[in-house]
Amino acid sequence: MLDPHTHVDRRGDDDLELLALSGVETVLTLAHDPAPFSEPASILDHFHQLTGRETKRGGPTGLEVLVAIGVYPGALKSGVDEVLERLPRLLAAPPVTAVGEIGLSRGTPGEERLLGAQMEIARDEGYPCVVHTPHDGKPGVVEQVLNVADERSVDPTRLIVDHLDASSVGDVLAAGPYAGVTLKIGLDETLSILEEHGTERITFNSDLNSGFSDPMALSRAALEMRRRGFSEKEIEAVTDTNAREALNLD
Ligand SMILES: [Zn+2]
Repeated sequence: MLDPHTHVDRRGDDDLELLALSGVETVLTLAHDPAPFSEPASILDHFHQLTGRETKRGGPTGLEVLVAIGVYPGALKSGVDEVLERLPRLLAAPPVTAVGEIGLSRGTPGEERLLGAQMEIARDEGYPCVVHTPHDGKPGVVEQVLNVADERSVDPTRLIVDHLDASSVGDVLAAGPYAGVTLKIGLDETLSILEEHGTERITFNSDLNSGFSDPMALSRAALEMRRRGFSEKEIEAVTDTNAREALNLD
């Protein structure tokens, strides 16, 4: 299985082992906002930690750790232009697979500009994006994300729009991107989404971070799908192959 939304820098080695034991072979660990970054050097150190030390931590258990880098909405207090200038060169480092976690949190014009600029860099450098959407006001913000992508002529199939719920998956699928479902919404809502929309372009993740989150989320979802009669192909689609396709890994 492949978990395309984790922050393994916020978890111990025992959790990386649990991921591997539960059948996860690959994780994408995304840059985020572990603390507000006061200047470019601080967020660049965060990127270096992910592309360096974090990628090696999976070694003892055989877990492959891939990396996404990008500026999370509101994460950097000043000097964002300097980071954006360096981003194309930083993306070229081998474990970097995507631009993320980028997105909208409050949906302000400043956040929209930052999202658009990073989508443009990803488009020009040929990387997919993992895009955060907030808990509140989801349908409106999802529409904003889709508009920003459209304005910047981003190929929708190069986007995973993430943290979607039953109210927003349909709009994202209709516009073309992959629909990321964070399993924290619960298995009942998650599986009702599959019953309504099927499994094409839907991809599950744990959003493993320092808050309550479950390293075994993907395996629990797979087990529940099996119990409810989903086929092995459908299980594989949402826990592995759709994310591989979205991230261009095969
Ligand atoms: Zn996240």
